[in-house]
Amino acid sequence: MHPSVDKILASNKIRHTSIREEVLGEFLGKDYAMSQPDLEKALGNQHDRVTIYRTLSLFLDKGILHKVLDDAGAMKFALCPETCSEHDHDHEHVHFKCTICGQTECFERMEVPHFTMPPGYAMQEANLLIRGTCPRCGGKG
Ligand SMILES: [Zn+2]
Ligand SMILES: [Zn+2]
Ligand SMILES: [Zn+2]
Repeated sequence: MHPSVDKILASNKIRHTSIREEVLGEFLGKDYAMSQPDLEKALGNQHDRVTIYRTLSLFLDKGILHKVLDDAGAMKFALCPETCSEHDHDHEHVHFKCTICGQTECFERMEVPHFTMPPGYAMQEANLLIRGTCPRCGGKG
């Protein structure tokens, strides 16, 4: 088990189950975002979809994961920084998708710019996805 799995579950007062430990372990072991199908593949179909879905929802609620919009239409999920919690989970940052390997990463330090809305429009959230090539794939495109 990844050493941080215990710590994250404990600090969010989440009971240990094998699915929770495995899902969290997958995210901790990777530095890119994963969709539910990616996760199902990584876990080797040992758990049913509903259980995985519920686990992802719980982690979203608790500020352990956040949603990442993907241009392919799938919703991906990525780990939140430790500063996120159930009640403080706002961090709009830029996401970067590599068009070669297809992996999406968080640019936590790059905030989504402030947009001035036209009169009558209120912004709730902004998602910004930059597409390009990552350092691993650089030059191969
Ligand atoms: Zn968060
Ligand atoms: Zn890449
Ligand atoms: Zn992110």
